[in-house]
Amino acid sequence: MTARPVRKSPPQPHLGRVIRTQRLTPHMQRVVFGGEGLAGFEAGTRTDHYVKLVFPAEGVEYPEPFSMARVREEFPREQWPVTRTYTVRTWDPELRELTVDFVVHGDEGLAGPWALRAQPGDTLRMLGPGGAYAPDPSADWHLLVGDESALPAISAALEALPAGAEVRAFVEVSGPEDEVKIDTDAEIVWLHRGDAPVGSLLVEAVASLEWPEGRVHAFVHGEAAFVRELRRMLRLERQVPREDLSVSGYWRLGHTEDRWQAAKPEWNAAVEAEQEGAAPAAPGSPAPAARALSPAAA
Ligand SMILES: Cc1cc2nc3c(=O)[nH]c(=O)nc-3n(C[C@H](O)[C@H](O)[C@H](O)COP(=O)(O)OP(=O)(O)OC[C@H]3O[C@@H](n4cnc5c(N)ncnc54)[C@H](O)[C@@H]3O)c2cc1C
Repeated sequence: MTARPVRKSPPQPHLGRVIRTQRLTPHMQRVVFGGEGLAGFEAGTRTDHYVKLVFPAEGVEYPEPFSMARVREEFPREQWPVTRTYTVRTWDPELRELTVDFVVHGDEGLAGPWALRAQPGDTLRMLGPGGAYAPDPSADWHLLVGDESALPAISAALEALPAGAEVRAFVEVSGPEDEVKIDTDAEIVWLHRGDAPVGSLLVEAVASLEWPEGRVHAFVHGEAAFVRELRRMLRLERQVPREDLSVSGYWRLGHTEDRWQAAKPEWNAAVEAEQEGAAPAAPGSPAPAARALSPAAA
């Protein structure tokens, strides 16, 4: 008798209730979620764990218990919820508190403005967590590079590293008032963007870095254009093996997350072709290139 394939049921979203909020800096809003709905939430040892926050379409109520699969079956596409991806800055299973730090980037978008308005008692569903990176303890040194959107993951990585670990950390923020306190003895180079294009200071800083000896494990995330340039530098100039890189565009200037996620496979294939000498993936087969670009690609 042939065994019937086991069908995994799709993951159930968790319901987070806002416990408190805090304006960390002019461009960063912290939201701490808790409540019964997080009872089944589990995060592992990755430092880049992320959740997909589920924003309902305006004026639409979904049947309970909520299921993405059911919504997709029963509702027209324009009534499907929209998701936004955010790093789990911390998860405390005992207190059942999940902390997410949102970049405040103006009035545009869903998640950024939602976080600014969030009040205790507000609820949001979330899927996940996913995640793929944690600093490899066998690496000789660690390179951590990102803009504000990667600051939660970089902070978590720095806090997970043992004291005395060899680290080069570069974080680009708008200005000095946007630096945050991180519980680490590693030196962090804060770059103040001012009016410069996002990521440009990170590219300069990594280009002029005095490269330490030994094997590097690198984490580079943030706006897609500078991430692409840094990936090129690391792969082609510094010859860092791809297994030692966690690199992906977390967001793209001028694109909503939906648009960016839709364009990302093609973008990844172009990066792959440019930097790995491989032919771009055929239309409709984006997954291998997307995977190849970074195990952390989300
Ligand atoms: C794995 C992963 C983890 C992430 N973790 C975090 C995190 O912890 N904190 C965080 O803030 N972001 C994080 N991001 C990035 C976040 O998902 C995007 O910035 C997302 O587009 C924000 O959604 P929104 O609804 O606010 O804006 P959208 O509706 O997606 O976009 C509206 C407009 O705002 C612009 N925009 C979006 N993000 C930014 C930004 N950061 N700065 C300036 N302009 C922007 C867009 O280009 C667009 O023009 C992560 C992304 C990934 C893939």
